[in-house]
Amino acid sequence: MPRIALGGFVILLAVISFAFFERPEKPEELEDNIITIQELVEIPPLPAKDIYGFVTEDSDLEIIEDVIKRNESLYIILRNHGLSPQQIYNIQNIASETVNLRRIMPGQKYRIYKKNGDAVAMVWHRSKVNYATIEWKNDIQVELNSIPIIREEAETAGIINSSLYETIIGQGVSQRLGVELADVFGWEIDFFALRSGDHFKVIYENLYANGEYLGIGNIKAAEFQHRGSVHKAYYFENDERRGFFDEEGNSMQKELLKAPFNYSQRISSGFSRSRLHPILNQRRPHYGTDYAAPTGTPIISVGDGVVTEAQYRGGNGNIVQIRHNNSYKTAYLHMSRFAAGIRPGVEVKQGQVIGYVGQTGLATGPHLCYRLYVNDQPVNSVTVDLPAAESLEERFVEEYRSTVQLYETRLDDISLHRDLASSSAEKRDDTTGS
Ligand SMILES: [Zn+2]
Repeated sequence: MPRIALGGFVILLAVISFAFFERPEKPEELEDNIITIQELVEIPPLPAKDIYGFVTEDSDLEIIEDVIKRNESLYIILRNHGLSPQQIYNIQNIASETVNLRRIMPGQKYRIYKKNGDAVAMVWHRSKVNYATIEWKNDIQVELNSIPIIREEAETAGIINSSLYETIIGQGVSQRLGVELADVFGWEIDFFALRSGDHFKVIYENLYANGEYLGIGNIKAAEFQHRGSVHKAYYFENDERRGFFDEEGNSMQKELLKAPFNYSQRISSGFSRSRLHPILNQRRPHYGTDYAAPTGTPIISVGDGVVTEAQYRGGNGNIVQIRHNNSYKTAYLHMSRFAAGIRPGVEVKQGQVIGYVGQTGLATGPHLCYRLYVNDQPVNSVTVDLPAAESLEERFVEEYRSTVQLYETRLDDISLHRDLASSSAEKRDDTTGS
């Protein structure tokens, strides 16, 4: 009987940790455990522990929870709790192999554990999730640990009235979700040109540690309807691959071509923070790569995007600018002329001819000055690492399909109706008003 009881004891512990950490385990094991527990209801309960592993049922134990204040050091805190300078020195010394206790910062949480009035241990929260435990009751022991993060899936939907961000905030959801959504769909949808009536549905994670909200985790699946066409993306992750893919397993992230030509062209002047300008004869940065090519050579867009500028602009001559997503922009200077239909607001495809080499503006000869901007900063297009856009490997496709099936159904089940009803009600009001 004691043997069974002990077994039950261990199993109970295992089940408690299941419940607590939400670790996914094999379902059949879990079932076994539940049955065994029902047979052994009389086991005395385990001593209660707090999330840091300290037994808290002890009536002699006192826990003081506080926040590190400005100008407070570990030395001051521990001195206030009765430790001698020598004890503190020893603690800092031994701890230094594991963690630098001098790096405590105002605002961080800590706990002091006191037994019979004497401080015996401390928990220092280096972040909301990561903490160090320091015990000095007998030997000095220092451990780094982290609170298990609980991931909870949530869903939201919205219809764009003004901006994506306002719509998302209107749902009571972190603005971060808008940023993430724009990242997922940024290569397919121009988020600067969202239209009233565009709408989205999204399944994402909320992260919690110790009951405290940490923020949003991964987007798991999302649908975005823009100008009547539906875009869907699903998150996939395993040991080898992670990212967002469409229903067919194509990467949501697209690639930019290395250079804006169908055939390789000679670079006549590279990107430079300071070069001697051939005409102005002054040192100034050259935020582009010059390709010497005969007048009339077709120039192609390095990626899908939207034309934001197509005009004659001073020393730049005939310039076309294209926005590819939230972070990537390209510019093409000194063109002899634009390709037909290239004007601001027009969508272009990767490889589409947008204009022709010339020497308009400040140029000594026919060439294209090609410029790449990442988050509005000019970068060297020749040396920069451009995002990769590989489709999902064939061997992962089956695994991916089950993810898609699961989330596709869930996306379909998310209702837009409430919003649709209220927005059409607004419309009615508008008509009666005018
Ligand atoms: Zn140039």
